Amino acid sequence: MVSPVTSFLKEAENVAFDPEHRKKIKFNIGRYDSAVKKGIKRYSEFELAKQRAANIKRDVIKNLPQLLEQFENSITGNGAEVFWAENSVDAIDIVLSLIKETGARSLVKSKSMITEEIELNEHLEREGIETIETDLGEFIVQVAGEKPYHIVTPAMHKSKEDVAKLFNEHFNTPVDLTPEELTLFVRGYLRKKFINADVGVTGANFLIAKEGAVAVTENEGNALLSASMPKFHIVIAGVEKILPQLKDLDIFWPLLAVHGTGQQTTVYSNLFFGPKKDTEKDGPEKMVIILVDNGRTNLYQDSVVKESLVCIRCGSCLNGCPVYKNIGGYTYNTTYSGPIGAVITPHLRSFKDFKHLSFASTLCGKCGEICPVKIPLPQLLIYNRQLANRKKLTPLKERILLSLSTFFLLHRKLLDFFGGGLKNLGVKLFNDKIFGRKRELQDFPDKSFATQWIKRKNNSD
Ligand code: SF4
Repeated sequence: MVSPVTSFLKEAENVAFDPEHRKKIKFNIGRYDSAVKKGIKRYSEFELAKQRAANIKRDVIKNLPQLLEQFENSITGNGAEVFWAENSVDAIDIVLSLIKETGARSLVKSKSMITEEIELNEHLEREGIETIETDLGEFIVQVAGEKPYHIVTPAMHKSKEDVAKLFNEHFNTPVDLTPEELTLFVRGYLRKKFINADVGVTGANFLIAKEGAVAVTENEGNALLSASMPKFHIVIAGVEKILPQLKDLDIFWPLLAVHGTGQQTTVYSNLFFGPKKDTEKDGPEKMVIILVDNGRTNLYQDSVVKESLVCIRCGSCLNGCPVYKNIGGYTYNTTYSGPIGAVITPHLRSFKDFKHLSFASTLCGKCGEICPVKIPLPQLLIYNRQLANRKKLTPLKERILLSLSTFFLLHRKLLDFFGGGLKNLGVKLFNDKIFGRKRELQDFPDKSFATQWIKRKNNSD
């Protein structure tokens, strides 16, 4: 069997040298970048807003158990039911038993990365339950038989021509439909699905502890329809999604919108407080929230990577990352890609199988700089690398190289004594490992900068 790291390297090389992929990603991220630039200008105190958000989320993580209990009590008081799932198997069992109880055969879903994480669609389809993605980007990748390419923009890797061709093949629509026509077609197609669905599934951007509410932001109205048209609304959310109170959304909604898409706020900002009340005409008769751990406790228990639990999944670290832009979302082979995916996946899934993701970074610092909740992503990537070395999960050759370079860098005089010859030999021996086969290296000069500097200084004195 091919190891995860081997397939990662192979796929990374394929994608990085694919000019079509490069063109599409450059175009889509270019549009994102200019929208975000404009969005940030609307803030008078942008850094202050980020700092406040970071402080609130860090307090949340400190008090997570209490806030989760508070959320459970308040939303139960509003008429919803809460279930706890330790892992993806539990989460799927809960969903399936709830759906079986109602005899549901069809389900509409709004975009939710945690449902990707637990592979909900695959399980439902195996049980013969029709599952329709209702976010346009998710719908496109579902029709294509693919997974989301990006945590915010699932079909970022497709051009409008790709989508027109895909719909032509699946729905026999004209091959030259414009983006507006494609959207209208999907709108018409999904309306019927919304009307007939027995169950609606959404994720949650935030779970509001004090008032007991589920906050979902979106641009297409599909989450609102998924939650309110079917009789039964199921929310699936990670345990880290908590915010203390409704007024915190003042900071988080605009911050998430500006980092996600460059918008001031998203077109729809939904708050679901529970099922329909006796006095209300519309809304689901039953609402259930499934709070999923699925490895988050591993992050919580580690005092360093715990920081990553404050992530609000805005996706901006992916868009800013030079590695993501070159190798694309699918190469990671994980639900969460880019810098945040590289930090959390080894802990959420398997450190042995996914630790290599933390090494796939130039450590340029861009991800940490743009994160709205100030997660020190580069430091967390380095921490994962150290952990991999401590656990002896990196190749022996690499560990020997690291020990040797540490030794020589700490004994500078010795290194200079051997001159450029030793450095060149070391680099030649490990070149492929360190820099990859495609990079040609310059030779080190015989005398180091420090040696030449001292000599020059002595001559001038
Ligand atoms: S780590 Fe920060 S930048 Fe990346 S998705 Fe999470 S909140 Fe956004």
